[in-house]
Amino acid sequence: MRLQEFPKFRAEHVEVQGQQVVVYGRFDQAALATECRSWLWLGNGAAWGDLENLNIPARTAEFHCWKEDFDESRFFLGLPWVPGYANPDDLMQVLDETATWEERIFRPSDALAAPTEDGWRQLTRIGSRKGLVLGEHDYIVEGGWDHEHCFLCSETIDEEQPKCFRSINEGREWWACPSCYEKWVVPHDGRFVFRQE
Ligand SMILES: [Zn+2]
Repeated sequence: MRLQEFPKFRAEHVEVQGQQVVVYGRFDQAALATECRSWLWLGNGAAWGDLENLNIPARTAEFHCWKEDFDESRFFLGLPWVPGYANPDDLMQVLDETATWEERIFRPSDALAAPTEDGWRQLTRIGSRKGLVLGEHDYIVEGGWDHEHCFLCSETIDEEQPKCFRSINEGREWWACPSCYEKWVVPHDGRFVFRQE
């Protein structure tokens, strides 16, 4: 499922209520729509809001969003609608046909531990110790960054997993387990955002 096949929500009229905007609109197809925190894809970012008062046979709904996220020139054209438990970066990473993925075994890296105010410690992965400046209470945990999670199903990815997939894009890493990789990433299928939790 590519972006152009997602349900498209098109604004028909708009009401400003304080800091919020209620966008009354219509879907081109509403079968996959549900009332939930969700977002509309603007082409270069997302406008988050709540889908309410959905009428599936009529394909009408209200999208309640913050005033600063409302973009009149685009909302009236119709925008792909996506349930909010998928975040925009993850969906775009799956749909991106130019993203490079490599088969890879996860290896632990060192982590920087910094105490937090409530007595926990915050771990941050360290790529290299070169130029690293430690705060007064910080310390390094060797091999402390010992797993990642599949960005699609949250399965733990660690050294025990023989065959996982990694993509690096704009300084961020994505890890996918083999089954999500085959099912969603290879065909660039965005349908995972509509799975039933
Ligand atoms: Zn997975």
